[in-house]
Formats: sequence, structure tokens, C-alpha cells
Amino acid sequence: MNGAQKDSEGVRRKGRCLCGAVQFTAVPAAEAGVCHCRMCQRWTAGPFFAVDCGDSVVFDSDDDYDLYRSSEWGERGFCRKCGTPLLWKLHGKNQCSVSLTAFDEIDDMRFTTEIFIDEKPDCYAFSNETKKMTGAEVFAMFAGGQDS
Ligand SMILES: [Zn+2]
Ligand SMILES: [Zn+2]
Repeated sequence: MNGAQKDSEGVRRKGRCLCGAVQFTAVPAAEAGVCHCRMCQRWTAGPFFAVDCGDSVVFDSDDDYDLYRSSEWGERGFCRKCGTPLLWKLHGKNQCSVSLTAFDEIDDMRFTTEIFIDEKPDCYAFSNETKKMTGAEVFAMFAGGQDS
């Protein structure tokens, strides 16, 4: 099993939590990003590397999968057994930003965006060439591009 098989929309990849109780496949976008917000920092023990997978997430095993409602609009999926953060989604919508590092194969992915750059601690910085957005810019983009 090499974890990559062609789907109609793109390459479907395999991912899982640390203990393996939660296993899934999804079709990630080609470009991934990182969220530097304080909630993601606390949740993931670092910035949250995520990739938009739309509604393509399919669980092979989800007995230990749970959702934590972290804000009025956001929910965070994780494994109850080992605590691995797995995805972020808008409450009530099946639009998932999946943990990039939960996938088996990510060497070919591109890292292009950093959001909530204004909440990034000063003690580190990525050298990748990325598009950087503040939290205010992210909220403005959501408000302008979607109806909720
Ligand atoms: Zn687990
Ligand atoms: Zn965040």
C-alpha cells in the first residue's frame, strides 16, 4: 500500500492519527498552509499545518474520532485515544482543513500560506516563500467570499 490512488478530483491520500485508531482518506488541495493563531498553537503544540480537503474526508475507522467545539464557528476533530489533532472545520459544514502531517505522504505538497501571522510568536519563523495574512485579513476574506 503506497497510500496514493487516483480519485476523480485528484489524488486520494491515506492519513491517520498517531495510534492508528482513526484512519481516513481524503483528497487534499495541492497547496497547504499553516495557522499561527493562539488556539491552534495550544491545540497542536505548534503552528497547525493544514490542507483544504473540502468534503472529501472518508473515515475507514472512526470509533475514537471526536469533535471539540472550540469557538462559535469552529470545530476541531481529534483522536480520543492518542489526542492527535486531525482537522478543523466550520461548525455545521462539511468543509475540512485536515492536518497536513496526518497524511502518510506529503513530500510533494507545497506550503504556500501562513494565516494569523500577527499571532505568531517572535521566537521562530519559516523561511518558505509564503503569502502571509493577519487574522483580520482572514476574517475579511471569509466575510467577503461566503454567505455566513
Ligand atoms: Zn489515535
Ligand atoms: Zn488557527
